[in-house]
Amino acid sequence: MAAGQAAIEGADVMLLEKKKMPGRKLRITGKGRCNLTNIAEVSEFIKHFGRNGKFLRQAFARFFSSDLIGFFNEIGLATKIERGGRVFPENDRAQDVADALLKWISRLNVRLHTETSINKLITSDERITGAVTDVKRAIEAEAIIIATGGLSYPLTGSTGDGYRLAESVGHTIVTTRPSLVPLETRENFPKHLVGLRLKNVNAALYIDGRKTAQEFGEMEFTDFGLDGPIILTLSRIAVDALDHGRDVEISIDLKPALDHNKLDARLLREIDQHGKMHFNNLLKELLPMQLIPTCMESVQIPPEKSAHQISSEERKRMRLWMKDFRLYISGHRSYDEAIITAGGVGLKEVNPRTMESRLIKDLYFCGEVLDLDGDTGGYNLQEAFSTGWLAGRSAAKADYNH
Ligand SMILES: Cc1cc2nc3c(=O)[nH]c(=O)nc-3n(C[C@H](O)[C@H](O)[C@H](O)COP(=O)(O)OP(=O)(O)OC[C@H]3O[C@@H](n4cnc5c(N)ncnc54)[C@H](O)[C@@H]3O)c2cc1C
Repeated sequence: MAAGQAAIEGADVMLLEKKKMPGRKLRITGKGRCNLTNIAEVSEFIKHFGRNGKFLRQAFARFFSSDLIGFFNEIGLATKIERGGRVFPENDRAQDVADALLKWISRLNVRLHTETSINKLITSDERITGAVTDVKRAIEAEAIIIATGGLSYPLTGSTGDGYRLAESVGHTIVTTRPSLVPLETRENFPKHLVGLRLKNVNAALYIDGRKTAQEFGEMEFTDFGLDGPIILTLSRIAVDALDHGRDVEISIDLKPALDHNKLDARLLREIDQHGKMHFNNLLKELLPMQLIPTCMESVQIPPEKSAHQISSEERKRMRLWMKDFRLYISGHRSYDEAIITAGGVGLKEVNPRTMESRLIKDLYFCGEVLDLDGDTGGYNLQEAFSTGWLAGRSAAKADYNH
């Protein structure tokens, strides 16, 4: 996006890509479908980036979701809107998004060099003058845009080079950490629940015993712990807490539509209606099959016990377990499995109106390399495209000025 926009402004643009195939990460986004953006209005959109979101106001004022959708439609990629305002290519193919961008920059005569990485920036009097590539070739440039991504899914080419480049010319790098990442549990039982997806549940995050956040939606169990949309969202806070040695727990409310009184009434009704049924069979009316052994072990009611023999104390244990199925979080997965990298090039040293470095003239940043990370839902790609648009336009104008 940055390269194409700079070319539209009349700049002579060279795009250096470390990998053989450009846009490898883009091609696997959204489980291969690419959730391009979200139609949430701007103030809502910004909230999905937490404290640093306001940095994006100017970029979004220039190029936002409707502009991005219009842009893709114009370059031949039809789009559709799905649940939660999430925008996808109409044919559900992330590959086509990357290919459409490549065709577009080729039409604009951007010179693409693949399998070429930038290893070093060259500056003179706090101004960028060029870069050195891994083939030891020095390139002169009137402006350079760093769009090297973060550290997550390193096989796609995002290996943190941009942080090292920025640091080498004096930029502050806010400590990075994996974000939107699955969480590991101390308990072993998720192993027996692999593949189980819970829909319409509420997951609350407890840090040092205090409820800090909650999310409603879908989650799943894996052989190491927890994954799925609401877990990834909670991981944005959980990882930071884990890295600071705090106690992290997740409490799952399996029946969020029923408060304690209503759930108790529901349990009583089930027990009355199925008095002769064994406890383990009764649970089939209330829980997914795969979860029943875990429940039985936790509430410690003998499986052969008839429903009408269940005491009020046992019924209370069932209710409490269903409203507060607790898991102790022992860690998080690595960058290899993180959707995004939190931290990065400090925003105080980047001009939000242009994306230009405040330290080195004619050096620009865009995308995940910046200290910006958003929720799932199309927010991160829009951030990358908007900051890319702005960096490209601004850098080309710098080109004219010299
Ligand atoms: C599995 C997965 C699914 C995702 N799904 C979604 C989604 O559906 N919607 C959404 O909004 N976000 C999604 N994201 C996040 C989104 O992909 C990123 O936020 C986005 O790709 C960041 O774009 P970027 O251009 O900054 O960096 P990247 O896409 O990481 O691109 C950086 C590029 O720079 C190249 N590079 C690195 N170092 C050098 C160097 N030294 N010299 C030359 N080239 C270099 C890399 O090879 C790479 O091609 C997903 C991420 C993952 C991992």
